[in-house]
Amino acid sequence: MGDFLQQCRAVIGSQYVLIDEADRKPYETEWRQRYRGQCLAVLRPASTTELAGLVKLCRQFKVGIVPQGGNTGLVIGSVPDSSGNAVVLSLRRLNKIRAIDATNNTITVEAGCILSHVQEAAEANLRLFPLSLASEGTCTIGGNLSSNAGGTAVLRYGNTRELCLGLEVVNADGEIWDGLKSLRKDNTGYDLRDLFIGAEGSLGIITAAVMKLYPKPKAIQTALVALPSPSAALDLLNLSREKFGSALTGFELISAICLELVHKHFPDIPLPFSNSYSYYVLLEISDHESEEHAKQLTENVLGQALENGLISDAIIADSMNQANNLWKLRENISTAQAAEGKNIKHDISLPSSCIPDFMATTAQLLESHFSGCRLVCFGHMGDGNLHYNISPPVGISDQKFMFNQEAINRLVHDQVHAYQGSISAEHGIGSLKREEMLRYKLAVEIQMMRAIKSALDPDNIMNPGKIL
Ligand code: FAD
Repeated sequence: MGDFLQQCRAVIGSQYVLIDEADRKPYETEWRQRYRGQCLAVLRPASTTELAGLVKLCRQFKVGIVPQGGNTGLVIGSVPDSSGNAVVLSLRRLNKIRAIDATNNTITVEAGCILSHVQEAAEANLRLFPLSLASEGTCTIGGNLSSNAGGTAVLRYGNTRELCLGLEVVNADGEIWDGLKSLRKDNTGYDLRDLFIGAEGSLGIITAAVMKLYPKPKAIQTALVALPSPSAALDLLNLSREKFGSALTGFELISAICLELVHKHFPDIPLPFSNSYSYYVLLEISDHESEEHAKQLTENVLGQALENGLISDAIIADSMNQANNLWKLRENISTAQAAEGKNIKHDISLPSSCIPDFMATTAQLLESHFSGCRLVCFGHMGDGNLHYNISPPVGISDQKFMFNQEAINRLVHDQVHAYQGSISAEHGIGSLKREEMLRYKLAVEIQMMRAIKSALDPDNIMNPGKIL
């Protein structure tokens, strides 16, 4: 492999071919530190042309390529396996904002741009780039596109796929496809763009993208609502859709134990209610008239919900600071649960009409098989997406409880399947959920996926072992 690495150095410069163990380590280790693989080298090109040159070499030498953006993915997709045969191809030096067309409401960015930088560039042009995730200070647009990331504004603006108009891609032959169109209508044959989005680097490497921008709302109003059950939350979702229309931009379900854990591990974040309730919804409205209008509308809708007995209490943020504190409660749930110990995670989606029934029947099954286990459920209920995580019963060691991981996954995913849901709503498949995906997808779906993979990547060099 000396010759291969030598030629890589000639393409991008020796300092951008990392082979020392200490340099490779952060690129080989996944975000949650559950897994570390091993690569031949980390390659850090600075341009699409350099990257294409590297892919040509990988194809020639039959070296697997693991594309990597911010490495915040949660399904062990952005790190290599333990063979030491593949390279990690880091996109982080491709980080330019190439153009902003405020009139066309589009921004053209390189794949390694950090998500928060794209948001800031939009803001500086009085526009909104609505994709928002807790990892936005580290994750990249290329990673967002490749995992078709969701986040907190999907309800109004859609997943990353819906925010993308055009792509530039380097395919497995090392050819550059310039598909950087900024059109909202283009029905000219198969949609290649949509093939690469959500492909987790298994079909080619996204090097740049044209993304949609939106007018900036005049006001954002946040409220935390207490309610008795998931069924009340579903009724509130429908009422909110009817009354707020497209102004409804966030609808996050939070179960009581989530706030208890956040309060235990982050006592500085204020708890807004003095009573405790079974469920909460964090609601966000983006208003295009005024702050006054947003507040009035929110008060009217929540006032009506309170009168009808749909909700038990509500707090409408009256300052940015209070709104931020309400969001902190939501954003720190995962970290608080991790501080409590290991847990078994599921990122599932269901038709929202099925959520109350799914939650009642699945909780019952879990209790009957794994008595005392703590269900920490929260998520983007407006999109039917729940993070359905299970912590050990109090007093039971992590090690003893994690022994049940496979059985718990089976129980939860069988339930999801029975309700015609998905075992991966927004995090993707990577290597973590590959076997689960194969288990639940139809044979004909897998067959078509394999046909696409072998047509575009016949030597299986693009993120080998991920998805399929
Ligand atoms: P990486 O982790 O580097 O890569 C992800 C996948 O894409 C890998 O398979 C990789 O090989 C591939 N890839 C990366 N760049 C490219 C490229 N340019 N071309 C081709 N393939 C590529 N996800 C959500 O959907 N919603 C959330 O709300 C959310 N919240 C999160 C909160 C936290 C605290 C953390 C740590 C993660 C969260 N995630 C969430 C998961 C993660 O942040 C997203 O999946 C994100 O889109 C990954 O971007 P990245 O740049 O880190 O990609």
